[in-house]
Amino acid sequence: MDNLKQLKNEEIIDLIKSGKVGAAELTDSGICPTCFDRENGNVLYGDNTGKIIFEDDKFECFLVGNPRADGHTAISTKAHFKDMMAIDDETCKEIFVLAKKVMNIIKDVYNAESVYLCTMCDGPMNHFHVQLIPRYSFEKRGSKNFVKPRAEYKEDREKLLELRKQLNYKQHE
Ligand SMILES: [Zn+2]
Repeated sequence: MDNLKQLKNEEIIDLIKSGKVGAAELTDSGICPTCFDRENGNVLYGDNTGKIIFEDDKFECFLVGNPRADGHTAISTKAHFKDMMAIDDETCKEIFVLAKKVMNIIKDVYNAESVYLCTMCDGPMNHFHVQLIPRYSFEKRGSKNFVKPRAEYKEDREKLLELRKQLNYKQHE
């Protein structure tokens, strides 16, 4: 499916809703899945307001819906950048300073032994984000932590509220 760009938004939305098109197909067609989702009522990823742990003018930080570990978190820019190579230096500095802060807080709140960081936005179109993946004491160190099996997100209300508190995030209704 390489002609999604020729379709109307409504047609793409219908394909997403029917399960025929997902993030990978949008990416392959040169459509940013993250921006498409944000501009079309979260049709692709669903409403993530319950998973947001920090937000400001430039960044959104949230627990991922299909985590590779408890506390698996993503930070993405609000503005569109294809990948890390496309961001400006100021944004680069800011997201790494923010990532450092969030990593320390995740380590503390989840009692992780370490937290890994990766970014691998790829394909014809993507939306820059970094992933923070905790590594626990019962897990071996090393790169296999980047590909731990994904699980379904289960809310841990206490930890969620603690993350928000430490990141000084007040959720507006
Ligand atoms: Zn985008």
